[in-house]
Amino acid sequence: MMEKENTFIGKDDLIHCSVCKEPKQAWLPENDLLGVRLRYRQCACERDANAIEKAEQEEKERRVQIAKNRRNCFDEATMKNKTFANTEEMTPAICKAKKYVDNWDEMKQQSKGLLFWGPLGTGKTYVAACIANALLERNVTVKMTNFNTIVDTMFRAENKTEYMNELSRCSLLIIDELGLERSSEYALGIIFDVIDHRYRSGKPLITTTNLPLKEIKGESNINKRRIYDRILERCTPILVDGENKREKTAEKNMKYLKTIFEDKETQTTHDPHNA
Ligand SMILES: [Zn+2]
Repeated sequence: MMEKENTFIGKDDLIHCSVCKEPKQAWLPENDLLGVRLRYRQCACERDANAIEKAEQEEKERRVQIAKNRRNCFDEATMKNKTFANTEEMTPAICKAKKYVDNWDEMKQQSKGLLFWGPLGTGKTYVAACIANALLERNVTVKMTNFNTIVDTMFRAENKTEYMNELSRCSLLIIDELGLERSSEYALGIIFDVIDHRYRSGKPLITTTNLPLKEIKGESNINKRRIYDRILERCTPILVDGENKREKTAEKNMKYLKTIFEDKETQTTHDPHNA
C-alpha cells in the first residue's frame, strides 16, 4: 500500500508522496471523546490512478451496453456492417443522413424523422442502417425492423403490451419497406397502433419505402391513409435514387470474374511448362 521508498516525512511529521509531494496522512476527527486520529489519505497520484480506472470501467460498461443495444436493434446481423465509414460514395441521401445524425439531439427534441423513398435497389435500407449504426455508437437506443415482422411478432406475442412498449422505448424507431406490409385490416390496425404510439410519444421515426411519394400522399384506402398521414407529418421525405445498387454489385462481380478468367487464360498460354 504505502511503499517506503516512494515516501518521505514532511516538516509536518506526516508521510508524504515523493512524486506529487502531497501528504498521505491526515489528522481526521473521529468524535469529541476520542479527538483526532492520524488517518490514511490518498495523494494526487492515487486519486489520478483511481479516476483512470473508473473511466476505463465506465467505458467498458458503455461498450457492453452498445453491443447489447446493437443486438436488440437489428433483425438481420448483416445490418451492422452498413455504416457511413463503409460507404463507397457520398450520395446526397447519405449526406443528409449524416446531417441527421450530427443534429440528433435537435431532431430528437423536435420529433423529426425521415422518409427515404425511391425506386427499388437504390440503397434506402443501407442509408437507414447507417443512421442506426452511427447513433448506436453514440449509445442511443435504436430499433430497426419492418411492418411484416412487427405484425408477425405482435400476432405471436404473449404479452402484446410489452412488445408495443419495447418498440416505444427506443429513442429511434426505423421501419424498413413501408408499403410492403400486408393490407389486411388486422395488419393495418397493428401498424396504425405502432405509428400512433410513436406519434404521441413524440419520439422520432424513420421509414423507407419503394412507393412513389405521390402514391403515399394520394393513398385512398382509409386504413392506410391514417398511417401515412402521421408518417408524412413527422418524417421529411428524402429521395434516394441513383443507380440500382444490386445491379451494380452484380455487374462488378461479373467484371471481377471476367478478369480472373482472363488472367488464367493469359497465364496458361504463356506458361512455358505448359507449351
Ligand atoms: Zn502522489
